[in-house]
Amino acid sequence: MAVPPLDQLCLAAEASGLSAAPVCPSRGMPSVQGRLGMASALFTALRCKHTPTADHCYRVAVSCSTWGAALRMPEHLRDVLESAALLHDIGKIGVPDAVMLKPGRLNDDEYEIISRHPDLASHVLMAAGAPQGVIDTLLEMSQWFDGSNRPIDGRGAPPSVTARMLAIADAFDSMTTDHIYRPAKTRDAALAELLKHSGTQFDPDLVRSFTEHFAQDQSALREEVGRRWLSALTPHESPVGWHPEEAIVGPLNSDPTTARSAFEQSLIDNMHDGVIFVDSQLRITLWNTGMQRLAGVDPSAAIGQLLRPTLLDMAEASGRRMADDECPVTAAIRGGVQDIRRVSILGRSGKHVYVDLHVVPVRQPAGAAIMLRDVSSEQSLEARCLALHVEMTKDPMTQVANRAEFDRMLEQFIETHLASGLACSLVMADIDRFKLINDTHGHQAGDTAIIAFANLLKTLCRSGDLVARYGGEEFVVLCADCGLNAAARRAELMRKKLAAMVHECLGNQPFTASFGVTELQAGDTPETLIRRADRGLLMAKEQGRNQVVQLGGDAVEAKKAQGAWWTGFSFGRGAGATGERRSSGVVEVALVCDVPMNVAVEKLRGFISDHDAKIVKTGENRLRMTTQCASVDRSMRKGDKPIAFQIDLTLSETHTERCNTAGLAAGKYVQTVAEVQIRPRRDGDLRRAGAVERARLLLASLKSYLMAKEQTAQA
Ligand code: GH3
Ligand code: MG
Ligand code: MG
Repeated sequence: MAVPPLDQLCLAAEASGLSAAPVCPSRGMPSVQGRLGMASALFTALRCKHTPTADHCYRVAVSCSTWGAALRMPEHLRDVLESAALLHDIGKIGVPDAVMLKPGRLNDDEYEIISRHPDLASHVLMAAGAPQGVIDTLLEMSQWFDGSNRPIDGRGAPPSVTARMLAIADAFDSMTTDHIYRPAKTRDAALAELLKHSGTQFDPDLVRSFTEHFAQDQSALREEVGRRWLSALTPHESPVGWHPEEAIVGPLNSDPTTARSAFEQSLIDNMHDGVIFVDSQLRITLWNTGMQRLAGVDPSAAIGQLLRPTLLDMAEASGRRMADDECPVTAAIRGGVQDIRRVSILGRSGKHVYVDLHVVPVRQPAGAAIMLRDVSSEQSLEARCLALHVEMTKDPMTQVANRAEFDRMLEQFIETHLASGLACSLVMADIDRFKLINDTHGHQAGDTAIIAFANLLKTLCRSGDLVARYGGEEFVVLCADCGLNAAARRAELMRKKLAAMVHECLGNQPFTASFGVTELQAGDTPETLIRRADRGLLMAKEQGRNQVVQLGGDAVEAKKAQGAWWTGFSFGRGAGATGERRSSGVVEVALVCDVPMNVAVEKLRGFISDHDAKIVKTGENRLRMTTQCASVDRSMRKGDKPIAFQIDLTLSETHTERCNTAGLAAGKYVQTVAEVQIRPRRDGDLRRAGAVERARLLLASLKSYLMAKEQTAQA
């Protein structure tokens, strides 16, 4: 329903020369204040507690008022309807935030708490001296028209007309508003819902009237409501007959020492939050039940005392105790500005509880109002989440990242580094002959050695790097923005430092580790990168341990070559400088590497093993293998299915008499030429989006494994 926005109401009133109503500086409701006097104080309290609820009440009140005008409702009934609509959720100020703001389903206990709000509302309204008609309307609005939800079916008087109207307007506004637990329905869907339940839950005549009313142009009626609500009324002329002097005060009001009205006292006592009033000397003049619940201190003991941080054993969020001369209340009174901060105070259980402290300085009479909201559940939840996160991502023994965290981070590392084009390397390290260490010095000493190694790796890594325990005595270091040579130098430093350390737990003996290092290349997946580093590590072990082996070609070179593809587009051999032939989804190129064929074949083994390729056919110097290429590029969606590729290679060895590139060392030079064709295995994939890009990624990877260049047309 299109409720007239507040500013529209004000404009309408202004246009009619009736803008003399008091206007609150912030998003206050001038019309509410002007119209309802005493009730506006309650409404303001609700607004402080939960603005969306207050806004809902306001919209329902305006819509009831326009509807009442359209029905030519007697003035006194329309007044009752407006006030009841405006305050129908006032009981929610007594509902704890944990329940009120809970995003998920309420449990039985929470449901029980929230369903008490109409009772709380009647309690507050009685204490405020509200007219009986308003209280009755609130109590009856939840009764169904046909009486079927009353305790004794169908018996008793039917709900009053104001209650029946309010039930409809309330349901309609609620249905057409977004909630955390339910999105808004359209107007038509909400009206259909009202019709569906008309005759049972809702009065059918009134549902019809409501539907007709909202089908008509409302502007004139809204203007009338604007004028009516903004008309200046003195408190004595309160149209709905509020009688604070006749307030029925419940047992909650137990403070006869102040001259505070019964209404105020009841309102404050029904608030779940702690409320304290102090005078300009910080002497406590009010201490509500919420405060009693929070601090475990009786109002009789608190009132008259000076409110100092030490009285509540107040501490900053960091845990530091506050001295009396750091009192936030004194500062707020002196500076005349509000203060909101999170502190902890000594709770009634004897433990500190976190609260949001809100200090509002007051001029007349001078002093301050202080509200304390218990946020301990929130705070401990935060702490628990943090602890859980640490538990899930860290290895408890060494305090470096665990395997699961490494797996998660590796994927991100690869994705961001491939997208940015920055280098990135992986170091894999394994302690040498660790079994022997355990056997000689015991498991405990072994643990201490593992921790020492982890600490060393941590001290040698830079911000942005990640050290993780890969398993047992094996660690990995992800080196951000770091090429192969730099990473190998860093691994060498790790190796040297470790070898130079002696350990008390090992009888002041050193121990060593072996390292495999590799750099991320185009076409890499987490698996290929790990396999390559692991292969380097294995080679370091095989070559005698305590050493660093780096594997993989120069990715920067590979990238340059890859870049040339994009710029020097060539179709068909010899057409361009690179000699690559491309048709849809097929990449064909000749690669040259400066090694004999048997060495090239060795290098090819690395590619086959890391890409998990299957050899499907071999002939003389020919090889056909198949492999899959999943998407690794950001531009490809994560869920993209891998494409199976077929790679054909024909190898030949060439011998040439020449000098080296520097014009020296004349002699016989041997090279291996690999004719490569990469194409999707299934013809159906030839035109699949990204097929050619993935084929190129595979070629880039193959090139770096073979440390090959593309044969130029002239070569
Ligand atoms: P290599 O040089 O080939 O790596 O020899 P190694 O003895 O280190 O290798 P191997 O993998 O055979 O043995 C590793 C041992 O590490 C076996 C296992 O009992 C031990 N280990 C694994 N995790 C822990 C741990 O947390 N604490 C201790 N004390 N020992 C561990
Ligand atoms: Mg080992
Ligand atoms: Mg091992």
